[in-house]
Amino acid sequence: MASGKVYLIGAGPGDPGLLTLKGQQYLADADVVIYDYLANPVLLGHARADAEKIYVGKVRGHHHLPQEETNALLAEKAAAGLQVVRLKGGDPYIFGRGGEEAAYLKERNIPFEVVPGVTAGFAAAAYAGIPLTHRDVTTSLALLTGHERPERKLSSLDWEKLATGLGTLIFYMGMANLKTISAELIRHGRDPQTPVAIVQWATLPRQRTLVGTLESIVADVAREGLEPPAVIIIGEVVNYREELRWYDNLPLFGKRFLITRPRAQAASFVQLLQQQGAETICIPTIEIVPPKDLAPFDDALRQLAGFDSLVLTSANAVSAFFQRLKENQLDLRSLAGVQIVAVGPKTAEAIEAYGLAPDLVPQNYRAEGVVEELLAQGVAGKRILYPHAEIARQLIVTDLTRAGAEVCAPIAYRTVIPQGKADMIRHLLAAGELDAICFSSSSTFDHLLAMLGDELKQLQGRAEFFSIGPLTSASIRKHDFEVALEPEQATLDALVAAMVDYYKQK
Ligand code: SAH
Repeated sequence: MASGKVYLIGAGPGDPGLLTLKGQQYLADADVVIYDYLANPVLLGHARADAEKIYVGKVRGHHHLPQEETNALLAEKAAAGLQVVRLKGGDPYIFGRGGEEAAYLKERNIPFEVVPGVTAGFAAAAYAGIPLTHRDVTTSLALLTGHERPERKLSSLDWEKLATGLGTLIFYMGMANLKTISAELIRHGRDPQTPVAIVQWATLPRQRTLVGTLESIVADVAREGLEPPAVIIIGEVVNYREELRWYDNLPLFGKRFLITRPRAQAASFVQLLQQQGAETICIPTIEIVPPKDLAPFDDALRQLAGFDSLVLTSANAVSAFFQRLKENQLDLRSLAGVQIVAVGPKTAEAIEAYGLAPDLVPQNYRAEGVVEELLAQGVAGKRILYPHAEIARQLIVTDLTRAGAEVCAPIAYRTVIPQGKADMIRHLLAAGELDAICFSSSSTFDHLLAMLGDELKQLQGRAEFFSIGPLTSASIRKHDFEVALEPEQATLDALVAAMVDYYKQK
């Protein structure tokens, strides 16, 4: 039997991008992933689909599994010959009982490895705009726990030395004892005006930062209602925040958007939004599936060489085309000599990803643009292949046929409504937890309407509707819903830029 091993991996503070490359690699290889309350569950996406995932974090403040049982679980899985990843929030060796887990494994001769992570205090400082050390104000830094073992209480901290002998202090788990912490520091000689920053949910779009002084911070927190998980940063370096803020003043920071496009195509949109500080929730209202009858598409693919042009009008059509080509045991060579037309830059990009350069991308990124350019080129007697969605505009077929082309237009894919998602969206809307819903095609809206029915009307106004372009907007308005925003160009980049402008003006 292969020998098992435990990897104690720091998951970082929350932002999934702060996992190390090594951590990601071990996660991808793991047979079992045992994870914590503070480890971002999004990271489980790096693990194999068939890896066992076990949650041992907290449930409403209570530890789900006592530490002893977590230790035993790690040992048991590794002893069974499995590769075990123990994913812990922040860094495993900073206030995370990682040392106890490692010692338990060591005693039982179970091999282990430790992969450090970005600890919450460092990450909170970076994302709040606070350099933890700065030549001008301090050269030392201490990490402290504000919540010691009950039998020892905070009294075991040497307050006098902390108060006067160190520069920056970072308290973890200190919210419940904030009053004691600030009072003791003042009592032992720290200036009551020393700045304090509390950073809650650091590095996540719901990050909140509150700045006060040792004297005021207890009242400030009570007024603003900040809660754990939060770190407390104390010291003159906090003053740099005003100048060095970069994260929580991003244009879309604090906004939450529902993304309705299929997950496979949402990644670049999500990335664009996150770069502007937004929080995104992806619940696709459309799912792409093959046509009910594949014969017409397959027939066309088998005679590819007989076509003059191939017209692709969406990234979905591109993936459907190449996937089906492969399923027919064909490859790119069968496209030799066929002119490739892409409706717009995104479709062109999708084609280029397969190593092909489109011959024609019209200036006007719509079916009208394709028709215009092909007509200008002359289509009489030409054979044109146009694999399309089940519900597609007929413009390309009718206009090109009228001009004498022979258009073969098989259905390449269908969009269907994913099951079991309506409740999640209903709940988010009803709770007022969304700033806007982004619709990137008519079907993303039509399907949402089909999913929620009349309820969508009743929930009107709970979130704004953002549309990618005129066709999508028309579908929304047709049902008497308001479109709050539509960019000048129907692209995701333009939509994100318009969203940034929109909130700037608000
Ligand atoms: N091993 C972890 C710390 C675990 S102790 C690390 O290295 O970060 C748990 C404490 O960490 C919380 O009480 C809080 O003080 C802090 N913490 C963890 N994640 C945080 C986050 N995203 N924002 C603010 N504080 C966080």
